[in-house]
Amino acid sequence: MDRAAGGTLAAGSEPGPGPSPARKRKRKRDLSGRSPMERCCRRYLKVTEVCGQSWCELQVLYGFEYPLVLKAEKERAEVKAGASIHLAREREVHDVVQVCVVTREDRQAVKFLNLLGMISALQTGCCVRELPAIGMLEGVFMVGVIDELRYSDKGELVLNELKTRRHKSLPSEAQAKGHRLQVGLYKLLFDGMVRGSLSRDQVVEHLELRLERALGPGVLEHARNLGFRVAAFGDVLDLLLVNLKYCELPCIDLLRLEYCHQGSGDIVGSQDVPFDEDQLRAQLRHYLSFWFGQREPRGVDIEDAWKCRMCSYAEHCEWRRGSSQGSVTVHTDKKLK
Ligand code: SF4
Repeated sequence: MDRAAGGTLAAGSEPGPGPSPARKRKRKRDLSGRSPMERCCRRYLKVTEVCGQSWCELQVLYGFEYPLVLKAEKERAEVKAGASIHLAREREVHDVVQVCVVTREDRQAVKFLNLLGMISALQTGCCVRELPAIGMLEGVFMVGVIDELRYSDKGELVLNELKTRRHKSLPSEAQAKGHRLQVGLYKLLFDGMVRGSLSRDQVVEHLELRLERALGPGVLEHARNLGFRVAAFGDVLDLLLVNLKYCELPCIDLLRLEYCHQGSGDIVGSQDVPFDEDQLRAQLRHYLSFWFGQREPRGVDIEDAWKCRMCSYAEHCEWRRGSSQGSVTVHTDKKLK
């Protein structure tokens, strides 16, 4: 089996599936010109990518530069175990049906049809899981999936984000920081959607979709079964935007993180997350300034060097090399010249 697909690379092991010398030269050339957003050909960012920056920004960038390593990461047993726990929970509240999709517009239409169903469910006071959340935040189109929205006994709309844990313990502050950012960004996206701020142009431009693209037979049948009469992708998008505008759903009142043990499924603990919009947006602007090319990416601070021991990119990492030679600051300054 190819090493890249076989597992996580350890620090000090043989070089893995890194970029070719030609690609490395290209990266150097690009560093002088295009922003990371342009270099990685991104028109939108995932919430999880921005949250990954709170752990290590350079690690997120390496994920784009070493896609095979990233793929191997996603194949890891604990990542798969976490995904199956999420799927099992989703099945508790939704029927999961297979829909045959052919085009990118088909795939997005299915997500939007699901979202339409979830808007109705929330309007009737039901709990929904795996709700897609999209919108513009601080000049960047962002996408994410909210684990769960439900109403509390007091009628508050509660966002509950499930995190699976290998050990029966709550996460370290380094991990929890990213989790808090994640739920805060989900709230901004959801609140924006139900306030009607999402526009047709934003969706089409950033997700690069064609409004006139006819939907495939599988999607048409799925839409019919849900009671929607649509023909092209633009019909589904318009339906969604009108429903969001007039749904009168409340904004999210409470953010909660729930930690669950992977092996037993036991709940390890839960934490309510305070929401300070100004602080959150300032934090987001800082992370986005890297994507806009306004500053260099940062590796971990010296006191967080323990993170590098469990990092799949450790052997390729320029920051770590500089750090182990006791010259993180020198290295950073050199890059900024
Ligand atoms: Fe970040 Fe350390 Fe990994 Fe480099 S080795 S990408 S600094 S976590």
